[in-house]
This record gives sequence, C-alpha cells and structure tokens, in this order.
Amino acid sequence: MSKKVRVRIAPSPTGDPHVGTAYIALFNWVFAKKNGGDFIIRIEDTDRTRFNEKSEREILEYLKWLGLDWSEGPDLGGKYGPYKQSERAHIYREYVDKLLSEGKAYRCFCSEDRLRKLREFQNSRKLPPGYDRKCRSLTEEEVESKIAQGMEFTVRLRVPLEGKSVVNDLLRGKIEFDNAKIDDQVLMKSDGMPTYHLANVVDDKLMGITHVVRAEEWIPSTPKHVLLYRAFGWEEPVWVHMPILRNADKSKISKRKNAVSLKHYHDKGYLKEALLNFLALMGWHPKSDEEIFSLDEMIKEFSFDNMHLGGPVFDVKKLNWINREYIKGKSNRELLDLCGIEYSEFKEKIVGEVKESVYTLEELKEKVDFFNADPYENIIRSDNREKMLSIIKDSSTVIDYFRSNLPAVENLDEAKSFIELMKSDLGLSPGKILPAIRVVTIGSLSGVEAAKMLSVFPKDEIVRRVESVLKRVYE
Ligand code: GLU
Repeated sequence: MSKKVRVRIAPSPTGDPHVGTAYIALFNWVFAKKNGGDFIIRIEDTDRTRFNEKSEREILEYLKWLGLDWSEGPDLGGKYGPYKQSERAHIYREYVDKLLSEGKAYRCFCSEDRLRKLREFQNSRKLPPGYDRKCRSLTEEEVESKIAQGMEFTVRLRVPLEGKSVVNDLLRGKIEFDNAKIDDQVLMKSDGMPTYHLANVVDDKLMGITHVVRAEEWIPSTPKHVLLYRAFGWEEPVWVHMPILRNADKSKISKRKNAVSLKHYHDKGYLKEALLNFLALMGWHPKSDEEIFSLDEMIKEFSFDNMHLGGPVFDVKKLNWINREYIKGKSNRELLDLCGIEYSEFKEKIVGEVKESVYTLEELKEKVDFFNADPYENIIRSDNREKMLSIIKDSSTVIDYFRSNLPAVENLDEAKSFIELMKSDLGLSPGKILPAIRVVTIGSLSGVEAAKMLSVFPKDEIVRRVESVLKRVYE
C-alpha cells in the first residue's frame, strides 16, 4: 500500500512574504488535495541572525489570504510538532550524536579565522571553495583533548571521497554529482544550532514528508541531503524541483525588476483567484488551451507529468489580464465589498460601468471614488483645471439647457435621445455639448461616455452636482 502523501513548504522568515513562496505552496497544496494528502508548513528559522518575527507572521497571513490552507503548522500545531526549527534544537542534537557515534560525522575545530584564510587561499589560486578536511582525520584522543581545552567545534558530515550521489528528480530525471566535489558540510554550528541541511532532512524524515516539492535553486543542496539520508539509513522522499520564477531577462525573480512581495499584490487589489491562476500557469497548463481555471479544475487535472520546465517569466501584463478576467466575473456588489466601499445603488452602477476598464481593485476603487467625489473638487485637482473652468464659463447656454431640461433617464437609449434633442435645440455640435456635460457632472474631460453617465447617475444627483459646481465657480 502506498503511503499517504505528505508535503510541506519550509519558508525561512527573513523578509516580506514572497510570491515564490506562494507559487511553491500552491503546487504542494494542489498535489496534496489531488492525492487526499496533507499539506503542512514548517518554519526554518535556524539562522537566528536573519530571523524576523514579523516575516513569519506575514507568511502565514498571506498564505491564508490566498486560501492555501494547511493542516499542521506553527500556528495549528500537530502530531509532528513543533513546526518551528528553533524549537527543535534538542532533536537535531540527538541525530548529530548518532552520526558522530557511528563515525559518519566528525568534529571540526577549525576557527573562523582559519576557514577564512583557507577560502582566500583557494580564491587566490582559483581553486574550488570547500573545507580541506583538516579535522577529518583527528584521532579520538586529539578530539577529547581539544574538547577538554574548551575549544569550540562544528560537526561536519564525512562525505564519501569517491563515487557519485544521484538525485532522482521526478521532473528532471537522474542528476549525478561526484562525491569528491561535495563539501564536508557543516551539520551543526558551534552554538549547537543545526544548519539548514541537517534540520531540513531530519524534519522531513520525522514529519513523514513523502515528496519534497521546492524550487530548483535547491538542486545543488540535494546531493548533500541524499548523502544525509544515506548516512542515517533512511528512505529518501521523492524529489520535485520546480522551475523558478524569472524576471523578463530570465534572471531569477528579484525585487529590483519585479514586485515580489505578496503584500504588494494584495494591496494593489489583485484577486487571490487571479494570482493563484497566474502562478499555476508559471509551471503548469491544463490540457485545453483555457488559461482561466479554478483551483478545483486544476486539482482535477493536475499531475507533475504535465509540468513545463522552461523558465517561467513573471509577466505582470499577463497577471493584469488574468486579474481583469476575474474582476469581470464578479458581481458589482461583490466588487464594492472587495474594494471596501460602502454600498449605494449609485456606486454599484458605477462599478458596472468601469469594471471592464480596470486591471486591479485599486484602480476600480480610484474610479468609483472619482465618480463619487464632488465634481468641483475633481476639477481643481486636475491638470486640466484651467481648460475645464473655461469650458464651464463658455458653455452657459448648454449648462442652463441641460440643468432645466434634463429628464429622469432610465436607460442608455433615453440618454442618447436627450442628447440628440439638445444638439438640435441648441444647434450645436457634440464637441460643444459633451465636454460641458462631463465637466459639470463628474469634473473630468474623459472617462465615461456622456450618455452612459446620464443613464447611471440619478437626475437629482446630476442637478445637485451642476448647481454645486456653478455655485463654486461663480461665487
Ligand atoms: N528554508 C528553505 C527555503 O527557505 C526550504 C527549502 C526546502 O523547501 O527544502 O526555501
């Protein structure tokens, strides 16, 4: 019988919650759902110098926003806890002791200073960097005496000097590494804290992780992990290294070229469905050509067999297009709620008019706020202020006619026929009428078509606006 699928993400809380974390979480989550498995979160915070509590909180908060729920984690606890590596130091120590007693690891007493000089020496001779294994052959007596002298030490893995380590990656096949080129990696630092490699392997094993699904940037670390599994005599998980997200120039996605914080996408008003759909397309595609799909549809069709491995470019234009599709799919009322705008019938209608012309909720909110604002305020805030004020002054006949004859308009056709009537009664071209109507109603020269505006705004509201503009212009 095959084991229950258990997957995890293991973020290091060192900064803003990253889109790359959401992308990897999404694939782990979908794979778990597809297989009736568990998706868990473990916090890898053993590097205490870079640790940041806010970052840990926000990673969980923004994954929750995306709806990628987990069944075990630092906030929920679970059978295999604690789920924060800083709280598991005693566990790693036990496993390090086991490797030491079996001679699979050794104590290294080299000082920071020696290691730095070694690196500089290797650098100057263009040699590959790495530990020269000075302490690998210390006798037991030598080790005891150094400990007795109170010398600090790290613990390193005794990497085989010959042979190969093979990473069998589900997406990439066998990747071979010469053991001779693998460093005798540090497993435990002198302060007793484990390194990433040790903690990561021990935790994946103890937490029953069946598939390690992570970004391809971890491939160089994986032979070290494979060697550790071997040293412990443990069965390896299935390795799945996902293509990393890239900037347009194909370099690894970075702050300087792309917004990478989930906060940014949340605050700009990208819908979580849109962001997830977009991230899914970075590594996977349904069999049809359809680019808009729900998580349920993805779960139904998902398999690592149809992943694409080409470097996926994080293209915000594409994300915008997807976001617009999802915005169009929401009701006007839902969009008001999502924008945090208090409901009114009028605002709901405005949303209906402008939602197809925006890419984000932020833009939508700006537009609704704009149409809802006092038109005179919009005029004086605009770069076209002078132009609009002179249109008002030059259009008194148009504005008088408009204000006195405006009927209660029920629909677009009625609005259009009123404008036609206006044109013929006043004997003026649309260019003389439409800008004036727009300026006194919304305080803008562009935006919504004038006839549309008349069909959206209640008559009383328009008259109130026109009067208030005139009052402020002439007072
Ligand atoms: N702590 C690593 C990270 O920050 C985890 C890598 C892995 O998934 O093994 O991404």
